[in-house]
Amino acid sequence: MLQEIREISNPLFRAIASGIFLSTLVTIPVTTAFYLFNPKNEATHRLIVYASLASAAIGTIGGIATGRSKSIDSKSVTSQNEGVEPSTEWKDWRKFVVDRKVKESESITSFYLKPVDGGSIPNHIPGQFLTIQLDIPEQPKPIVRTYSLSDYIESPNYYRLSIKREPAPSDTIAPPGVASNFMHDSIHEGSIIAAKPPAGKFVLDLNSTQPAVLISNGVGITPMISMAKAATLLNPQRHIWFLHGARDGSLHAFRDEVNAIAERNPHLHIAYCYSRPTAADEGQYQHKGYVDANLIKNVVAPEMEKLCGSSVADYFLCGSPSFMDSLRDGLREWGVPDKNVLFESFAKAKPKKSEQPQEIIPKNENSDAIEVVFNKSGKTINWNPDRGSILDFAEANEIYPDHSCRVGVCGTCACKISEGEVEYEEKPTAAVESGSVLICISRPKTAKIVLDI
Ligand SMILES: Cc1cc2nc3c(=O)[nH]c(=O)nc-3n(C[C@H](O)[C@H](O)[C@H](O)COP(=O)(O)OP(=O)(O)OC[C@H]3O[C@@H](n4cnc5c(N)ncnc54)[C@H](O)[C@@H]3O)c2cc1C
Repeated sequence: MLQEIREISNPLFRAIASGIFLSTLVTIPVTTAFYLFNPKNEATHRLIVYASLASAAIGTIGGIATGRSKSIDSKSVTSQNEGVEPSTEWKDWRKFVVDRKVKESESITSFYLKPVDGGSIPNHIPGQFLTIQLDIPEQPKPIVRTYSLSDYIESPNYYRLSIKREPAPSDTIAPPGVASNFMHDSIHEGSIIAAKPPAGKFVLDLNSTQPAVLISNGVGITPMISMAKAATLLNPQRHIWFLHGARDGSLHAFRDEVNAIAERNPHLHIAYCYSRPTAADEGQYQHKGYVDANLIKNVVAPEMEKLCGSSVADYFLCGSPSFMDSLRDGLREWGVPDKNVLFESFAKAKPKKSEQPQEIIPKNENSDAIEVVFNKSGKTINWNPDRGSILDFAEANEIYPDHSCRVGVCGTCACKISEGEVEYEEKPTAAVESGSVLICISRPKTAKIVLDI
């Protein structure tokens, strides 16, 4: 009861409730006791009235004091987390508390985040991500990573991130993923992490009526759930195909959640493909094997033709790099124009054997002559094209700029360039301010570049 009273935010109501509570608490036993031992004495009545009034007054003061200590509590949370942005002005890091942590599959866990400042949070466009910052012990600086928003509600009071634990690769002695393992092992309900506002251009247009095919594997399902939910809420007439690939049911996160959306939305068509289904998966998947262009050509397109009168659609791809490469090639070969295929990479593809770094980046005769000046670090180093991007090159020279996605999507590595120019390996997806460059997907174009790192 006291806890409930403490949680009343209006101080007047809290004081009244507290006064009534304490008065009742004192009056009942005092009245009973006095009447039992001295039933008809007038002084007894007076004493009871005084006791009630005194306890009401004490209760009221207690209610106010509770309020004071409560506001001190919330202040101390804020001061613990300096840099908290007011909700309306949210542009940079803002502190969020993990309200719930939910295991979704053998490898994926969801984190429900609510703002520590108690302010409102903006809705996101389905498909967008949050950039988060983690203070991980033994890491020399905060680790920044991006995670797609995996849920969609119209007026959100939380954001949901669903994170796959990245194990160490089996073919090297490299360590397991830093951020994902930290999230799984050390972030719990009540933990606080910083996040930037939702961003990203891999988004579903909620006004379009053209059929959409959402294709994912593994943890690539996260932006697709948000898209399927948003379409169901706000554009339910649009036909959406939801194709997802997993090895088996134990690694298939959100199956029940997506099935439940499809039950509400007859225009959401589901196809799950399990490459190695187990006996327990019987009846839970539609196709054995992988999601590939043949499935789209032979199963989805005829269905779409029948329901929509055409098989022209927008395709959204998110999954492992090899999965996306094969689908993009397959769709292109089948004649789907590139403009109808939107994709998001969660990680940089590992170079194939035939594409080792020295072949991806042709050795420039004059590369020794290219000077890269890292202004803040006070280092000027001759460019080595074997090092990949400028970010890779900086790290190889013990300079560690902020970065996250390494694929030009999140914009975390943007830095000012005061001299020279860079060229991009691929077009950046993140918005880049004039005078800034994304170093994770670029290399020097001129004989000298000066970066504010
Ligand atoms: C737009 C976007 C949205 C995303 N959304 C999601 C999402 O919804 N859910 C999700 O789980 N992920 C998502 N990601 C991926 C996420 O941002 C992280 O990249 C992922 O969690 C891995 O981060 P990490 O710190 O755990 O791994 P890192 O430490 O960055 O390592 C990545 C991998 O490389 C290996 N590795 C480490 N060092 C070496 C080395 N020296 N040599 C070879 N290999 C090495 C690690 O073992 C690991 O497997 C998204 C990415 C982007 C760009």
